[in-house]
Amino acid sequence: MNLKSTTCFSTRNNKPLSEYHSQVEAEGAAVFANSQYKLKLAPYHCERCGAWHLAPRNRQTPSTSCNICTDSTGHAKELYQTQKAAQQRAKIIRKEKGVQLVVYQCPYNNGWHLTKTAARRK
Ligand SMILES: [Zn+2]
Ligand SMILES: [Zn+2]
Repeated sequence: MNLKSTTCFSTRNNKPLSEYHSQVEAEGAAVFANSQYKLKLAPYHCERCGAWHLAPRNRQTPSTSCNICTDSTGHAKELYQTQKAAQQRAKIIRKEKGVQLVVYQCPYNNGWHLTKTAARRK
């Protein structure tokens, strides 16, 4: 059974995400997707709806919010736990939005941020 979320949508295609009630259930679905469709998915716990969803494994970039740094809109910047996670996120954003980002180490916390490079071309 595949329940569709009414609160959470894919950032890629805006389709409702599948919703699972436990990690075990979500992991089972991930294994199934892998064997059927060769999709590498990993369960994650959604803070928004409290259920579990699946996300492509290579999109999982553990991050928290920095308590000091803010972006140009005044929001707390994402703080990535590893440089690799930040680079991975930068790659995804470049692919999906065409925005070039560079990774730099947070001067205050133990983690990494992304920032826009100066636009060189139009
Ligand atoms: Zn959710
Ligand atoms: Zn910071």
